[in-house]
Amino acid sequence: MESMCVKCGKCEKHCPQNIPIRDSLVQVKKRMEPFGFKPVRALVKKICEIARMRKDIRKIRIRRNKIGST
Ligand code: SF4
Repeated sequence: MESMCVKCGKCEKHCPQNIPIRDSLVQVKKRMEPFGFKPVRALVKKICEIARMRKDIRKIRIRRNKIGST
């Protein structure tokens, strides 16, 4: 999840310990994210996007069928 950070700094503004969260996340990312993580994440995002689109299309078809049957 560290790669999801957009470095907005909101978390640092609220941290009572003044932990440099953005810098820490960069370190965590270097240590934790395996090689090839980004392409896999991009692929998963794409699959989710397609699944959402298919779901929307299904809803539209159901609506059309309801309109057509009345
Ligand atoms: S800087 Fe903090 S609040 Fe902003 S995206 Fe990163 S982790 Fe989230």
